[in-house]
Amino acid sequence: MSCVKVTDGKLVKNVDEFKNAVKEISPGDKIILANGIWKDAELELVANGKEDSLIMIEAEENGKVFLEGQSHVKIGGSYIVLKGLVFRNGHTSSSCVISFRKNKTTPCNSCRVTECVIDNYNPPERFDSDYWVDIYGQNNRFDHNYLVGKRNRGVTLAVRLKNDGDRENNHRIDHNYFGYRPTLGSNGGETLRIGTSHYSLSNSNTIVEDNYFERCSGELEIISSKSCQNIFRNNTFYECQGTLTMRHGNETLVENNYFIGNRLPNTGGIRVINKTQTVKNNYLQGLTGTRFRGSLVVMNGVPDSPLNRYFQVTDSDISHNLLVDCDHVQLCAGSDAERSAPPVNSTMTSNIFYNEEKDDVFTVYDDIEGIDFRNNYISNNMLLPTNKGRVVTEGFEKKNLTFTSVNGIKKCNEYASVGPESRKEIPNETNTGVAWYPNKDYHIHFNTGKIITVRPGDNTLLEAIRETKDGDILELSSGIYHQSKAININHTITIKSTDNPTLTFERPSLFNIENGGSLTLEGLTIHGTECDDYSGNAVIRTSQYSMINNYKLMIRDCTFKDLDVNHSFNVLKVYKNTFADSILLANCIFENISGHVLNMDKEIDDTGIYNVENVIISDSKFKDIGGSALNLYRGGRDESTFGPILKMSDSQFENVGHDKRNKNDAAVVLSGVQLAEMENLKFKDSRKLKLHLIVGDPVIKLKDIDFDDCEMMTSNDNDYQKSNVNFKNTKKL
Ligand code: CA
Repeated sequence: MSCVKVTDGKLVKNVDEFKNAVKEISPGDKIILANGIWKDAELELVANGKEDSLIMIEAEENGKVFLEGQSHVKIGGSYIVLKGLVFRNGHTSSSCVISFRKNKTTPCNSCRVTECVIDNYNPPERFDSDYWVDIYGQNNRFDHNYLVGKRNRGVTLAVRLKNDGDRENNHRIDHNYFGYRPTLGSNGGETLRIGTSHYSLSNSNTIVEDNYFERCSGELEIISSKSCQNIFRNNTFYECQGTLTMRHGNETLVENNYFIGNRLPNTGGIRVINKTQTVKNNYLQGLTGTRFRGSLVVMNGVPDSPLNRYFQVTDSDISHNLLVDCDHVQLCAGSDAERSAPPVNSTMTSNIFYNEEKDDVFTVYDDIEGIDFRNNYISNNMLLPTNKGRVVTEGFEKKNLTFTSVNGIKKCNEYASVGPESRKEIPNETNTGVAWYPNKDYHIHFNTGKIITVRPGDNTLLEAIRETKDGDILELSSGIYHQSKAININHTITIKSTDNPTLTFERPSLFNIENGGSLTLEGLTIHGTECDDYSGNAVIRTSQYSMINNYKLMIRDCTFKDLDVNHSFNVLKVYKNTFADSILLANCIFENISGHVLNMDKEIDDTGIYNVENVIISDSKFKDIGGSALNLYRGGRDESTFGPILKMSDSQFENVGHDKRNKNDAAVVLSGVQLAEMENLKFKDSRKLKLHLIVGDPVIKLKDIDFDDCEMMTSNDNDYQKSNVNFKNTKKL
């Protein structure tokens, strides 16, 4: 026996010692994992403690035991406590990082995982799926853990109901800090899922309370409750893009939760589906999301719905919720030919909807006769909801209300019983998770590092970039900067100038944004004339491999010229399994380019995956472009994402899209785009604007657009907004 006996347990230094210690474990024993890095550690045990003599597996010291490489922990049995481990620098080789079962026949019962950290423990492939935590069995507790930076496909934490012994489980998930979960750009980015549609009519009886969810924005559902009798109470959802969704299952209680949006885009609240749901005394503030990401969304159902679609909302009660400064309440949301069953036998009582800045907060998509409205209060400016053209006056009262703010949370002075009960502290980043691990910063910070001056010449830029750190700024003077090698961008970099330098390059690309990289270009002129004479060159390309990190590309005051040594020379070339958080083109000139400017169409499987969330184009000029200025593509009918989102304004397009190799057959294509605002644009002698509207309710607004000598725009659907869109000398195809 190689294990060292310590006063209070067995200290083990490696996996073999752990295995030996497990062999002779009995109730009341403690295994202590020695400080240090445990690489590729697969720690598995099945054991049975007792209620009054637990089996403990814990770190020698908090924050000093790191599981790295391909590590995981699987526990089965009963009365086991796992405590104090940190997973980082790697990813699980199995289906999850911490599993509450060793294998199919050995789930956990009455076990606890506490004060563990999982920090950016992701596989390199964005769409290789895994879960971080899988909870099976009954009466387990997952508490005071910190989970941050899940970036690949797969739920962060799942409660499984596969076997009888997994149901009516009374699990408690509490005091956890669910940190940043960036937009996945696909379904499968939920932070919490309880059950699946298959077992959704079984009782799970899981309690989720006192947790802090921070920017959990992986997809539409922050939480997907897919079983019966779950309770969600006293949680904070801070700046999360998405909603707590009662996706399947009945008799859910959502009570005393705080949804704080701070007016960030796409922030949402609570989405109600199914029957006998109770939503009461919640606080919702500054939520701007619309459609399925509204602050309060009551869905339409499918008549005789199969398990995996949408059951009608019946016998549900929404009361005493306080909504302050929230932009969208959506009733009968998702109403369409399939989802044709509006809510019935339900009530909305004593809620406050207060928004002095926005009048049209309510949107009603079908018949709301089936909701009994009583004693709801709205601000004086707000419009009452309308039902089939008739204003619903009963059940709403316009009122001037006053609020007192305590620690940023508002309380209504006139109706103190609306909203959550006052508490000293709501769940936040300090009273959840662990105290001994630093909170991770989730922003991409441009311009936070040092300024490095770079002189013109051959490869001076490449050499300077090798010396940079995250956030650094390279300042260029006037002159020619020639690169004979491509420049890899591995972190956040700004390259800028006020002296209008020229950049030339030889290789198939100038900048390669690799995983973890983000790039700002400012005040530069980039020529393609020195490039090797091959087709398919690009000024900027993403990694050719999967990128687990989302990137940003910001281009301001730049000119891209003469990218035409051969055909299909693009400004940006993206690859499959890469995802941009945002791409900005502001005050730029694109001229004489044989390929596309932005061709974001590499996800062609039509499963709802796409390449970029936000595209912003303003004050720019596109002239003599063989391909498209923009092709924004999202295929499939999946409804779990919000993007792509486009803002395009004050720009001109001349002779765009005419190259015979332009398979897009258009100057600008928006396909499956969810939100597009196009304003003050001039198209001349260009191919068409092509719209393909699919999925839910895409919002497309076209305003003040002139087409001169262009093809007629096309759309598969007329459901878009158009004002002052003019065609002159329209060309026939
Ligand atoms: Ca989902």
